[in-house]
Amino acid sequence: MIFRQLFDHTSHTYTYLLAERRGGEALLIDPVLENTAQYVRLLEELDVKLVLAADTHIHADHVTALDSLRNHTGCASAMGAMTRAECVSVHFHEGEKLCVDNLHLDILYTPGHTDDSYSFVLPDRVFTGDTLLIRGTGRTDFQNGDPAAQYDSLFGKLLTLPEETLVYPAHDYNGMTVSTIGEEKRHNPRLQVAGKQAYIELMNGLELDDPQLMDIAVPANRACGVRSAA
Ligand code: FE
Repeated sequence: MIFRQLFDHTSHTYTYLLAERRGGEALLIDPVLENTAQYVRLLEELDVKLVLAADTHIHADHVTALDSLRNHTGCASAMGAMTRAECVSVHFHEGEKLCVDNLHLDILYTPGHTDDSYSFVLPDRVFTGDTLLIRGTGRTDFQNGDPAAQYDSLFGKLLTLPEETLVYPAHDYNGMTVSTIGEEKRHNPRLQVAGKQAYIELMNGLELDDPQLMDIAVPANRACGVRSAA
């Protein structure tokens, strides 16, 4: 498998490139608009053809490259069925798979950070978006966030994966790149709660500033990254 973890320094976003083999098909997860040229160059260097670009959810902190990649490569664009974005060519559902050649990523619906958050699962790793971060979890205070739903997504879905499963989140702010389900179960402070009510109180007690780009990024991302003229 070809696997690359790319980092956007401005928004602290991880973008993932996956392909089964050289000369084959590729998938990009959570690409950032400003890095489009870097992705296109890397795809050429690795000799893979981008067939699909997918966002785990509507991001509030950066503008997606779904539209620009579609223009540059002709790839399909995908977001979950719960995403109110008319612009994508594919709306995926839990239980379906994202496929590039013989790589098949299982789709989990993991709401809580937003109501359109999904995770993608391979046998040895999971792409958790902003649902499960390394030693953290995605905030639940805007974009129809819901700490109770996030608790269910975490404890009912992601944390039931095998302990050795590698965790690749959509962001990291502390220099971490990868974790495992077992490591997060033991060491993620947000997961050391007595139950759902305690998790809700923990998340509702966080007092966070809005992301700087939120007013620009959310409407742009509903249009796959096309900024309105207004
Ligand atoms: Fe997010």
